[in-house]
Amino acid sequence: MNRIVILGAGESGIGAALLAKKEGWEVFVSDAGMIKPAFKNELAAAAIDFEEGKHSKEKILNASVIVKSPGIPEKNEMVKEIRKRGIEIISEIEFAYRSKGKSKIIAITGSNGKTTTTAMIYHICKTGGADCALVGNIGFSFARQVAKEPKALYVVEVSSFQLDDIKTFRPDVAVLTNITEDHLDRYEYKFENYIKSKFRIIENQTEKDFFIYNDDDEITKKYLNQFLKNTNPLPISMNHELPEGAYIVNAEMHLKWKNEEMEMNVEDFAVKGKHNQYNTMAAGISSAVMGIRKEKIRDAIQTFKSLEHRMSTVAIIRGVEFINDSKATNVNSTWYALESMTKPVILILGGVDKGNDYSFIKDLVKEKVKAIVCMGVDNTKIHEAFGNEVQLMINTQSAKDAVQAAFHFADKGDVVLLSPACASFDLFKNYEDRGNQFIEAVKDM
Ligand code: ADP
Repeated sequence: MNRIVILGAGESGIGAALLAKKEGWEVFVSDAGMIKPAFKNELAAAAIDFEEGKHSKEKILNASVIVKSPGIPEKNEMVKEIRKRGIEIISEIEFAYRSKGKSKIIAITGSNGKTTTTAMIYHICKTGGADCALVGNIGFSFARQVAKEPKALYVVEVSSFQLDDIKTFRPDVAVLTNITEDHLDRYEYKFENYIKSKFRIIENQTEKDFFIYNDDDEITKKYLNQFLKNTNPLPISMNHELPEGAYIVNAEMHLKWKNEEMEMNVEDFAVKGKHNQYNTMAAGISSAVMGIRKEKIRDAIQTFKSLEHRMSTVAIIRGVEFINDSKATNVNSTWYALESMTKPVILILGGVDKGNDYSFIKDLVKEKVKAIVCMGVDNTKIHEAFGNEVQLMINTQSAKDAVQAAFHFADKGDVVLLSPACASFDLFKNYEDRGNQFIEAVKDM
């Protein structure tokens, strides 16, 4: 039988459903929540059968393959039942991969910097004239792109949840930006499980493929040998020179691959901050091995525009700069944000904690932060972590109150930094909503 069931009707589920329909499967979509009206219209227009607000066993357990949304955890009862019966479960990227034909893939994963690096690689490839698409988190899902507008090259942002259910997915170029503790709630609070799932990005790679990883990242380095098999490793570093890969010494970036080499001064990068230098190295070397010409890589790195909610200055009010880094949903991102600060900081921190270890940013907080404005429903852990380091601390429960409190603590020449180190869904819809409400509140002052 040729029946495919899609669990979860978000962008990736709808993409998978449309692709499956096009490929001639009998398709059924099931979502335990409500499906967005626009998605329902799409399903109806494509004559795809669906249900919402429930998972009907009899319509699901007769599938030959199940595409599971990355949002649905293993502990979900329906997922457990499917596993028990041995029905194949794959992720949307695996499904799209099986239908992509001869097209190439650059896939990007990691704890932080995925979206920025993905967008930058796409910008470089596009500038270099490649027939390419940006898929994953920004824009279409991979499956929808394959269904609607196939391209010669896909630049795919991949989460660890998507990697959990791959089987044959093999990117021509794999990028692992870094590994720090995140999403531990989904990995039984075992960091090892999360690390393993990240490294699955190279699991099916061959001698023809490339693997770009951060040679300065302790965790990546520690586990590299355990997972590295057939691919061509291309490390990136800011600490040392490398025979192949990318490195920065004395503010000069060197890209080295095959017998080629190119250099570029970091002053010419359009995006600033140490973390973006890593992202730029990863993007530069990925595009280089894909055959993009040097001049084009250089042009694109100079013209890349940074993305919203990632270290963007919202306004300067009476000498106080407001920076929106709402996308910083874990401690490591906040570390990079603080690291790049040169003025005293009022830090807006808090939200839903995914198992945060705040000791990681303790030194930076001590050195740079004069006040912490907690913005979350439960701020206990933040108080415990920083109560002795920071004199001024206050609890707030809205962006408006947080901005006002922060402004109250700030003097001319200070920075108010929203870099929460937490997910946003206790008080906001998502990190964009949190960032937008922050921007609104700043503009209303
Ligand atoms: P992701 O898609 O992995 O969540 P983003 O590119 O959206 O990553 O960046 C999210 C936040 O992470 C940024 O606001 C920045 O603070 C931080 N960040 C970006 N790139 C890196 C990096 N290479 N290493 C560490 N932190 C980074």
